[in-house]
Amino acid sequence: MSIIKSIQIPQCVRGFESGSDSFDIYIEKGHIAGIEPAQAAINSGVSQKQMLLPAFVDLHLHIDKTFVVDEVGAAEGDLFAAIDRMAQHRDGWSAEHIETRMERALQEAYVNGCRALRTHLDWMTKDAPKSLAVFEKLRDAWRGKLTLQCVSLTPLDFFDDTFNGEDLALEVATANLTCDQKRGEAALLGAFVYRNERIYDKLQRVFDLAIKNQLNLDFHVDEGLDVDARGLKAIAELTIKNNYQGRVTCGHACSLAMQSDEDALATLKLCFQAGIHLVALPTTNLYLQGAWNRTPIERGITRLREAREAGVNCSIATDNVADGFYPYGSYNPLASYALGVQMGHLSNPLDWLSSITSAPSKAMNLPWDGLIREGCSVNDLLLVQAGDARDLMNAPLLQRLSTI
Ligand SMILES: [Zn+2]
Repeated sequence: MSIIKSIQIPQCVRGFESGSDSFDIYIEKGHIAGIEPAQAAINSGVSQKQMLLPAFVDLHLHIDKTFVVDEVGAAEGDLFAAIDRMAQHRDGWSAEHIETRMERALQEAYVNGCRALRTHLDWMTKDAPKSLAVFEKLRDAWRGKLTLQCVSLTPLDFFDDTFNGEDLALEVATANLTCDQKRGEAALLGAFVYRNERIYDKLQRVFDLAIKNQLNLDFHVDEGLDVDARGLKAIAELTIKNNYQGRVTCGHACSLAMQSDEDALATLKLCFQAGIHLVALPTTNLYLQGAWNRTPIERGITRLREAREAGVNCSIATDNVADGFYPYGSYNPLASYALGVQMGHLSNPLDWLSSITSAPSKAMNLPWDGLIREGCSVNDLLLVQAGDARDLMNAPLLQRLSTI
């Protein structure tokens, strides 16, 4: 048995009750065998500069189109220009090109303390894109280190009379069947939703396909600052109407920040009733939203504080890395969290660690809820050189407990 002495475990990642802040951790056969209030800290009163954290979960990524910014250029605030540019570039992708970039993304995510992630895959035809087979190969190769989920990303307008989505949903369902679901792997159906005409009809079509094929849903919704972008409300209403509570994730929801308090809070109440998993994407939103011809005033981040207050399960994720949508960044959940804390004035920051640990674990239905308790595997735990929230903002060193 080995012992790690006098280490902090922040309250919001604890799966046990204790009045202490510092703990001695007993490890046996690769698992936590015991957690006791630290004797040394009690005696000395000295705060220790180490935290034990659950490994991170990144709920919203795009590893199919990452690391192409040198070739496509950066969009500087024009989301729809970025969509067009990336669409042209995508036509030239080979499986080899995709695999090299995806592998690099997964390596980075792992080094930066990830244990699970969900990526969207651009999906513009009824047949599966090249990236799906590459994703599945890497998902199998990384099994045991990273748990991977994928989502089909298709413009909502494709789900209308001319493209009813039947074949697409079948392909996603087939991909879902190849998953090791006990480990939390999954393939989901998704769509890009922004101020579409007949939005309820098209969204209902997506719900019909999800229900028929037993798929969970993940939407890009309201990624813009137009007050009348109200896709989140429509999705929450349809989730309740279709009895799909707890099975729907919504990313972005930027326009919620532009709406009146009354409207926004009413939508968040619906989101709570629908069990929607809300995910904020600070890096991409900060870059793409707000003015580029003057200093930007809007921040683009959704109303995380009000959402949590309303009982909504809130995550923070990384979104695009080095592509036409966002030219900077890396696969580093802690960096995304640190930016989110600052953009959203999330206080106390330590209470928001759940946004990259237990909240996305819940959204992804992972077998472990991301809370530290006896029995946890050392593979899923991180030793972080941080004594407080300020240290966490400052790119602290971290190690997997299994490597110590
Ligand atoms: Zn995205």
